Amino acid sequence: MALMSSTGRAEITKRLITEKGFVAVAVEADWPDAYRVNRYVRGINDDATARDALAGFKRFPIWMWRNTDVLDFIEWLRTHNTGLPHGDEAKIPAGGQSLIPLLRFRLAAPSLLIDIIRLSELEYIREADGALHIGALTREAALETSSLVHHRYPILRDTSKGVADPVVRNWGTVGGNLAHADPANDHPATMLALGARVVAEGPDGKRVIPIDAFFTDSPFVTTLQPNEILTEIRIPAPTERSGGAYFKLERKVGDYAIAGVAASLTLDPDGLVTYAGIGLTNVGPSPIKARNAEQALHGKPLDDAHIHQAADLAAAASQPGSDRRGTAEYRRAMVRTLCVRALRKALARAREGEEL
Ligand SMILES: Cc1cc2nc3c(=O)[nH]c(=O)nc-3n(C[C@H](O)[C@H](O)[C@H](O)COP(=O)(O)OP(=O)(O)OC[C@H]3O[C@@H](n4cnc5c(N)ncnc54)[C@H](O)[C@@H]3O)c2cc1C
Repeated sequence: MALMSSTGRAEITKRLITEKGFVAVAVEADWPDAYRVNRYVRGINDDATARDALAGFKRFPIWMWRNTDVLDFIEWLRTHNTGLPHGDEAKIPAGGQSLIPLLRFRLAAPSLLIDIIRLSELEYIREADGALHIGALTREAALETSSLVHHRYPILRDTSKGVADPVVRNWGTVGGNLAHADPANDHPATMLALGARVVAEGPDGKRVIPIDAFFTDSPFVTTLQPNEILTEIRIPAPTERSGGAYFKLERKVGDYAIAGVAASLTLDPDGLVTYAGIGLTNVGPSPIKARNAEQALHGKPLDDAHIHQAADLAAAASQPGSDRRGTAEYRRAMVRTLCVRALRKALARAREGEEL
């Protein structure tokens, strides 16, 4: 993959940027729209770790896209026909919170990094046309502190607050959380429960993908094409008598889930379920949509018997393995328990926002 500027290395600039101890880059040469970076550390905040990581990162070229305009980036992909922005050869870090650890532990060895975090056009949270639109580069911290999310989409706040710790949430993006397709990540289950759609853009245009067609049966694999990036997440706006909640069990605060359950509901005026979405975290090779549990609730009142029936079906849909977070049996039991809690909380939120 050739990525040299047509103007060559016109200018050699060297500089060190440190922001709160998380960024240290020395820029070597320039490109009209991107910097070539010869040293690169993000999300790592102690010097010894940084030195170690820097040593490992000299092996492949890193470009930092410096323009804020997403169309320019797509056009750049088209005109330079670089092939894979995030396939086997190249990776595009956003917040870097999943990718950088993979690089540090040599679990990924791309031939190229193109850092897109400065595409600030993709940082927004707004309601329009009956949906919540979240730009793919919106940070977890922005979701967590958004009053729109707080009042209208509390399930999203539940989810963001459960992701790692404040430092990771300051860097990590919602798009990255989904595009990484880690079954242990928290947003996939919530987006499955909410019936979200994602927008992918590339040189061939824009497509809108239902979230259950975005994930695959394999971990870390999505249906994004190699030359596409995720640009937006769309969530149906809540209607009357709708509510959702996310519950996650973790060994300690900030850890990945032992198991997690997201539930989203809409009721009719008689209290019967007209929409049920249930998503599961970290209990299978990929994020799981508990379809049988959802279907069992349709047209039913959300009484204890139906809640427990749905929770049993959600547990049956899980495919946990045993690891240091717990045995398969324990994690399946936790899905059942968390599903009961998530459905009850969603019900309470659907009914006048009362708290359980
Ligand atoms: C200590 C620690 C604890 C963590 N705990 C949790 C946790 O409890 N829950 C949780 O959900 N996550 C957790 N994570 C993972 C991490 O927070 C999320 O996966 C993260 O937010 C990903 O977003 P990012 O922007 O950092 O993605 P990056 O690391 O930059 O990218 C991840 C992958 O997605 C691709 N990508 C990113 N953005 C796009 C895009 N717009 N279009 C196409 N591809 C894209 C990248 O190419 C890369 O392959 C943890 C991470 C750390 C370091």
